[in-house]
Amino acid sequence: MDQLNIAIIGAGATGLAAAWDFTNAGHQVTIYEAADRVGGLAAGFKDEAWDWTLEKFYHHWFASDYDLLALAEEMGVRDRIIFPRPKTSYWVDGKPVRSEISPSALFLPLSFASILRMGLSGMYVKLTRRWQPFERVTADQWMRRWMGREAYEKFFKPLLIGKFAEQYDQVPMSFMWARIVKRTLKLGTYVGGFQAFLDELARQLRAKGVAIQLRAPVDGITQVDGKPWLNIDGERFAFDRVLSTTSPRLLLSMTDGLAQTDYGKKVAALKSIGGICVVFALKAPLMPDDTYWLNLPATSADKSTSAFPFLALVEHTNFISRERYGGDRIIYCGDYVPPTHEYFQLSEGALVERFLPALSVVNPAFKREWIRKSWVWRAPYAQPVPALNHSLKIPDISTPMPGLYWASMSQVYPWDRGTNYAVEIGRRAARLALAP
Ligand SMILES: Cc1cc2nc3c(=O)[nH]c(=O)nc-3n(C[C@H](O)[C@H](O)[C@H](O)COP(=O)(O)OP(=O)(O)OC[C@H]3O[C@@H](n4cnc5c(N)ncnc54)[C@H](O)[C@@H]3O)c2cc1C
Repeated sequence: MDQLNIAIIGAGATGLAAAWDFTNAGHQVTIYEAADRVGGLAAGFKDEAWDWTLEKFYHHWFASDYDLLALAEEMGVRDRIIFPRPKTSYWVDGKPVRSEISPSALFLPLSFASILRMGLSGMYVKLTRRWQPFERVTADQWMRRWMGREAYEKFFKPLLIGKFAEQYDQVPMSFMWARIVKRTLKLGTYVGGFQAFLDELARQLRAKGVAIQLRAPVDGITQVDGKPWLNIDGERFAFDRVLSTTSPRLLLSMTDGLAQTDYGKKVAALKSIGGICVVFALKAPLMPDDTYWLNLPATSADKSTSAFPFLALVEHTNFISRERYGGDRIIYCGDYVPPTHEYFQLSEGALVERFLPALSVVNPAFKREWIRKSWVWRAPYAQPVPALNHSLKIPDISTPMPGLYWASMSQVYPWDRGTNYAVEIGRRAARLALAP
């Protein structure tokens, strides 16, 4: 094949992984990224007191993230991925309860019959390879029936409400299947943080001749003489192939005529939810029992009457040593809400005030003076929301516009979003775009 001139929109994990294969196949690649750094949703930031970067939104890998690990191997940096084994818990009846299988599971605040049903149904899901039957039933229906009302109401329903808000009872059981099958006790990160990994990937891409243009938002995609053209900062450029890695909404708004096609209608029907994280650098430890990840129960879909105003309380420095962060104890308070929710409109200060009281519930000794600094991060497209029979509803990577391809979190189903699947779909898109 002749050398192709290829553009990628977005320097997140999907775009960077696609660029890896395009450039290794000998093609000329330009990545246009709207932000001032590579990384997208997995990007990090760095306080002057820290040695490592910190992800804006909590991130870890599973030991089963094989596509990511394979790419790290090809890059020659596999040994820089470490896998500690932090503690993860649920907040139930006013205290943390370990969520991993351990002897403490026998003392869960549930009847013996419920513990048995939860254990057996969980094992069945973990050992089942065929996920297709699970997409025909909602997680709410399946778990209520097989796990039993008590365990579902106490552990999993609050989790689904926290993650999907009003849409919690429409999500198929295949979502839970993917979460259960992929989960490993050891959780991974890159020495220096996810940003360090993505920067290293960008560095190697540049060394291979890939042009990565930062602060270069693409304004539009048009079709002229059977080729995709990009509008960037008032100029127009023609390419042989364009791979867009943006959200469904952005793809439709920037691509001339796509929304009117059947493909465009499929893209428009995809649902997603936004994510927010308030990050605190504390001077003292917060979590009881050195817990890394604590799932907090959500009881109301709009969060207004839930006991906790957010879903996940994460003490990152119970996963990665606080020595990497100048001695700070790093806390994430994370939640998922639609972009129309007030959490997207509140000022940073108001959001911090809204979330602070929850810290005292988890640790009554917590004092406001412990806070050294705080940050607020928001992403309107943070989590795809799958529907029943979702496999039939996913748009292809190839679009009806010749030369235009699209790869995003919304297409990695049955798996849940994750940088591992971003790498997988980015590389799959590259193969497809180069197929004769
Ligand atoms: C709260 C949260 C927690 C997560 N936890 C984990 C985790 O623990 N482990 C894990 O592996 N994954 C996790 N993920 C998922 C992971 O971040 C994503 O799956 C992955 O980063 C998606 O990569 P992407 O390249 O597909 O999209 P993105 O990262 O969204 O990249 C798209 C890029 O396109 C750019 N862009 C958008 N519009 C334009 C334009 N017009 N022109 C140019 N550029 C544009 C954006 O700036 C962005 O950089 C989490 C995500 C969130 C939100």
